[in-house]
Amino acid sequence: MNEILYAKNLTKIYDTKNKIKVLNNVSLTVNNEDFICIMGPSGSGKSTFLNVLSTVDNPNTGILKINGKKIYEMSDSEIARLRYENIGFVFQDFNLVDSMTISENISLPLVLANKNKKEIKEKTEELANNLHIFELLYKFPNECSGGQRQRAAAARALIANPKLLIADEPTGNLDTKNSHELLKIFQQRNKICGTAILMVTHDSMIASYSKKLIFLRDGKIEQVLERNNLTQKEFFYKIVDITSKESQNLFDVI
Ligand code: ADP
Repeated sequence: MNEILYAKNLTKIYDTKNKIKVLNNVSLTVNNEDFICIMGPSGSGKSTFLNVLSTVDNPNTGILKINGKKIYEMSDSEIARLRYENIGFVFQDFNLVDSMTISENISLPLVLANKNKKEIKEKTEELANNLHIFELLYKFPNECSGGQRQRAAAARALIANPKLLIADEPTGNLDTKNSHELLKIFQQRNKICGTAILMVTHDSMIASYSKKLIFLRDGKIEQVLERNNLTQKEFFYKIVDITSKESQNLFDVI
């Protein structure tokens, strides 16, 4: 197995009056073929963790390596390059560029990497075909449905064959059918290409697509659940068990 991401003892403290540790000595290793889901109550540090792991934000202390390279010893331009060569991102609100066609949006990472036009066209069309958005290539995002836009965002995230796909609540703006379709795309990439996936969600059904669940609370990893040989349905029930206890705890603070 190849290690793609290594994080050791990450700590993040926002410069507020109470100086709470939003991340408190958190460590995580992501290898290729991993499909990891992060869950936890609101305010537990999920977004902060994802932002630090994806080099969008810096921790106060800790070590982060992506593809074996120590991030905090690199310049901003080296980090930006490492990021676009290794990581694809999918966000809740799609983040497509409205003034570009779906085709231009999907191919953006290859254009930025100076690939030749023929290769860009072939790869864009092949991926759009796989994700059933081929007929939308010359439309603009506002002419597409939410599910179609999210598939275009997934295509953009995957077109440069990233080693790691990072997704922050990727189904937050999708209905159930489109959510499952998106997760099946992720699952297929993970299975066929070994693309590692790291995803934050609050939805147990969506989390059941992963192979490992990490539950965060108060900036710490409280629980790790491995799927192992469980079916998706069995894993779903285990996740629901954790999240329903979490919901019951909410009454303790009343
Ligand atoms: P989650 O994604 O699990 O809801 P976040 O990572 O967004 O949690 O936030 C964790 C904690 O950090 C929360 O208490 C939040 O208020 C605080 N926080 C997040 N961003 C900032 C910021 N830029 N400045 C100060 N506090 C922040």
